[in-house]
Amino acid sequence: MKGPIMRALSGVAAMTLAMAATPLVAQGGPTDADLMNDAASTGDVLTYGMGPQAHRFSTLNAINSGNVAKMVPAFSASLGGEKQRGQEAQPIVYDGTIYVTGSYSRLFAFDARTGEEKWQYDARLPDGIMPCCDVVNRGAAIHGDKIIFATLDARLVALNRHTGKVIWNKQIADYKEGYSATAAPLIVKGMVITGNSGGEFGVVGAVEARDVNTGELIWHRPVIEGHMGTLKGKDNGITGKLNATWQGDLWKSGGGATWLGGTYDPETNLLFFGTGNPAPWNSHLRPGDNLYTASTLAIDPDTGVIKWHYQTTPHDGWDFDGVNEFIPFDATINGKPMKLGAKADRNGYFFVLDRTNGKFISASKFVMQTTWANGFNKAGKPNYIPEGRPPAPGDAKGKPVFASPSFLGGKNWMPMAYSHDTGLFYIPSNDWGMDIWNEPIAYKKGAAYLGAGFTIKSIAEDHIGALRAMDPKTGKIMWEYKNKAPLWGGVLTTGGNLVFTGTPEGFLKAFDAKTGQELWKFQTGSGVVGSPVTWEQDGEQYVAVMSGWGGAVPLWGGEVAKSFKDINQGGALWVFKLPK
Ligand code: CA
Ligand code: CA
Repeated sequence: MKGPIMRALSGVAAMTLAMAATPLVAQGGPTDADLMNDAASTGDVLTYGMGPQAHRFSTLNAINSGNVAKMVPAFSASLGGEKQRGQEAQPIVYDGTIYVTGSYSRLFAFDARTGEEKWQYDARLPDGIMPCCDVVNRGAAIHGDKIIFATLDARLVALNRHTGKVIWNKQIADYKEGYSATAAPLIVKGMVITGNSGGEFGVVGAVEARDVNTGELIWHRPVIEGHMGTLKGKDNGITGKLNATWQGDLWKSGGGATWLGGTYDPETNLLFFGTGNPAPWNSHLRPGDNLYTASTLAIDPDTGVIKWHYQTTPHDGWDFDGVNEFIPFDATINGKPMKLGAKADRNGYFFVLDRTNGKFISASKFVMQTTWANGFNKAGKPNYIPEGRPPAPGDAKGKPVFASPSFLGGKNWMPMAYSHDTGLFYIPSNDWGMDIWNEPIAYKKGAAYLGAGFTIKSIAEDHIGALRAMDPKTGKIMWEYKNKAPLWGGVLTTGGNLVFTGTPEGFLKAFDAKTGQELWKFQTGSGVVGSPVTWEQDGEQYVAVMSGWGGAVPLWGGEVAKSFKDINQGGALWVFKLPK
């Protein structure tokens, strides 16, 4: 039967179905199970990292190495205002809405089909905030009717995702002591798991869990030995052993900020959080390994207890924060299938560990030069180069040494991606060094606590940035793309044999995942330092990224600032697809 009546009937049927389906989505929203399934669900992007393991891999292949050259913008949406600093966010995409965080602790909801703004939330920030490295934010977390993000005054804010109205707003730590927050929260088992920022101010790094519905604290775990953890309001054991690797009272201002957030592995039920530099930077003022700074920690999400640790830079003297994302993956090593995890560290080495127990498997150099250590031994300890450590200063400025990588790292905050098709990790890295010297310093609450000075320098004629494809089984670099300015954006890889990343020069670029050949680029009008995502909507594949130059590089870039002095600021979401 055809004709107007049947068409009307099927119209009614379709409407009934739509009405039945829509309220369920609108009222419920993503569940814990949906978040755990994010990597497999191609119609949405629910988590920072596109899955709790943060592989940043999508199976989508409608856009692929054969047709990406034809990709065009679908729309762009401005963040407006004059608050155009670095835009380091990763978009969240759900139920026809794209959520992005912006500089100065703003959160936007845009229509995913048209780019029209649905609502905007501006956190009211106090004058005294102390972010070390630009007023950035790296993204939000979604759960049920809430969209949640961290603010520069070290708070966590849950908004109604339909209206942008505040549901709860909790302090993580006191911004007057130097704490701040910029990472995307991680949601596991109905808990919002966050770290803290402020490693340049002698804060104490910590990881904590809050009830996603109320924001109430469930557990708190300081990451510096000697500090007491809590679970449901009660003491839950000291971290490490008091004074085992710290002398005197130095652990009380020991640093180790967990400023980049974490990943979660459902298979082992472990949270993985990296910890930042020990405080102060001047290593002669704090003899010992200074646990658990510059480390990867595995934490039990149910109790906040540390299950294992691996320190990537013991007794750090170069600001080699060990915060980088630890990405669970499985591979066969020496004929044995293993549950592994990988981290490309600020210190220039790519680490593979057994993620069930933290046992060291390998460390492979992924940058041009490391002056502080010459590889790692079988026990997972660095072979230090003694003259690579800046000497004790005495009463005045100490003698400078040249060190590489620079303190901004072989890799900084920008997340790598892991392809299930090629088995390669795609690392956004930088080749640069610094002159660094030590100075005397005493701890003062809320003041910078470095005891060091520095000037960043180029070490190559033709590039600073380098996107590198790392084989985690062999430690070999399979291909590299060199970029004039430092790379500062995240990476996405797809089943279309593609790798996407942005450049400070303003381009989002696509590369062949197997060969590294550049296949497509688009000029967004400002530097790209955000993390791209992809999803499927109305039968088409979309790619989105934030544009807006900023972050730590223009603030601290020293002599390498030449490579980016003409880049304009901005603040926009860009969305791409293939033409119809
Ligand atoms: Ca998904
Ligand atoms: Ca640091």
